[in-house]
Amino acid sequence: MDFDKARRILIDSISHDIKDRHVLLAMSRVPREWFVPLDLQPSAYDDRPLSIGCGQTISQPYIVALMTEALELKGREKVLEIGTGSGYQAAVLAELARYVYSVERIPELAETAARVLSGLGYKNVQVEVAGDELGCAKYAPYDGILVAAAAPSVHQTLIDQLYEGGRLVIPVGSRLEQELLRVTKLRSGIRTERLGGCRFVPLIGRDAWQE
Ligand code: SAH
Repeated sequence: MDFDKARRILIDSISHDIKDRHVLLAMSRVPREWFVPLDLQPSAYDDRPLSIGCGQTISQPYIVALMTEALELKGREKVLEIGTGSGYQAAVLAELARYVYSVERIPELAETAARVLSGLGYKNVQVEVAGDELGCAKYAPYDGILVAAAAPSVHQTLIDQLYEGGRLVIPVGSRLEQELLRVTKLRSGIRTERLGGCRFVPLIGRDAWQE
């Protein structure tokens, strides 16, 4: 299997919709095959989500690109990802931001992701097991928050964890289908933009869905 070639073909097809070349370059540097179970490695560059165990999935590469692009990272940001899963999205963010915190509620996934990320040499990513509260108030505020699981609403806790001017990219809707939103924190409230339909596994917690 020629992973480098498969990666180039995938990035090329994503580039029809995603115009931010920094995002495309970042994704061309991250080996997605490292983030999927061994038996799924031959499918690592299919543009679709794949199972990573524990009932969870690694997101579709196109969606990773779309969400990353929506954060409009310039390289100096402190970013939070909610839902580490395999760690793939965290790696893409780490290519583009100064520092990435990523929280995951399933300890087993957090541990595997942290191991893969450090094996690849990422020094600007920290994976933590999620607490009861949504996000990670401990290191807040953030310039950007990317939620990689489906939320029932935009909870105030997440807005509170953003700097003024910061962006939250989050799928909001039912447990089965959602709309991707970009929410910008303003001095007086928030601005919400719609980025299109998507399907994520549910965000679980006190301020989200029940398990
Ligand atoms: N970004 C991941 C895909 C995430 S799938 C990747 O690139 O592979 C969504 C993840 O969110 C799952 O692993 C799930 O366990 C996690 N999750 C669900 N609710 C959560 C919460 N409240 N806090 C942190 N992680 C959560």
